[in-house]
Amino acid sequence: MVKPFVPQLVYIEPRALEYPLGRELKEKFENMGIEIRETTSHNQVRNLPGENDFQKYRVAKSTLVVGVRKTLKFDTSKPSAEYAIPFATGCMGHCHYCYLQTTMGSKPYIRTYVNLDEIFDAAEQYMQERSPEETRFEASCTSDIVGIDHLTHSLKHAIEYFGKSEHGKLRFVTKFAHVDHLLDAEHNGRTRFRFSMNADYVIKFLEPGTSRLKERIEAAVKVAASGYPLGFIIAPIYLYDEWREGYKELFEQLHEKLPAYAKKDLTFELIQHRFTKPAKRVIQKNYPMTKLEMDEERRMYKWGRYGIGKYVYPKDEQQDIQRTLGEYIETYFPEARLEYFT
Ligand code: SF4
Repeated sequence: MVKPFVPQLVYIEPRALEYPLGRELKEKFENMGIEIRETTSHNQVRNLPGENDFQKYRVAKSTLVVGVRKTLKFDTSKPSAEYAIPFATGCMGHCHYCYLQTTMGSKPYIRTYVNLDEIFDAAEQYMQERSPEETRFEASCTSDIVGIDHLTHSLKHAIEYFGKSEHGKLRFVTKFAHVDHLLDAEHNGRTRFRFSMNADYVIKFLEPGTSRLKERIEAAVKVAASGYPLGFIIAPIYLYDEWREGYKELFEQLHEKLPAYAKKDLTFELIQHRFTKPAKRVIQKNYPMTKLEMDEERRMYKWGRYGIGKYVYPKDEQQDIQRTLGEYIETYFPEARLEYFT
């Protein structure tokens, strides 16, 4: 069982102490006996312990930086939402394929932002711009926010904030089962709580440091019992030798464990595995023994934004994935909605 995250080292920006959450976190980490250092900016944490890149990377993944979010311009977040809402950056998980390895480059440490009211004010402006249309905010674009929320409760605040909102909705996805403090949040059905699920093989070999399948399913059952709209992101869909059986077992287990009411307003999002050439280099450096197959010859090249294309499965395999998983969804969850396959 993966225990709730406890940082080994904490950095705090002096400005973060101007906010109640910043002061609260400082006190919390002091009481926990964790070493606290000061940093002038959450973007420039230097001198992390470790003798080489490999060690430094692992130390960074267990370092939490408490800072103030200055950029309040939100990125777009297609296809799952209109905007990404930034409460944190980085993650303590060690999923070999994780896109954060390339997007965060030399800063793999975890950052949490304490100026929540300013972030909510910015969200409000985005909502007003689109009003009376609904605006969906995705809270897990640059982190697994649930993984640190037992410490910060930022997500819990956000859930309650959007619970009162007229035009805004919140969504996020997690691979962590530490959800108990979120069960009594007043969500008013305006937050879709999604779990990232995968075949047991993928979780076992490619997602170290995250909650196991059984724990995620148990957490999903609790979340559904608290009345949250529930969703599952099956990602990355990864073609290993017995993938058909592996994904079938996943759907069977979900079907068996979820109560009938949770199967009604349920969404699925399907995302196939992909990688870029720069990502492959970083993954091989950070996880040299990985079982993750990244053979360009077996993939199809897809041009992307900024000139960096990605390698996805060839067309026939994509169709096979869509057909196979589509059938599983229809069989086990006929009332669920498949939002997209990408
Ligand atoms: Fe990346 Fe999500 Fe795994 Fe964290 S849990 S390492 S964000 S894929």
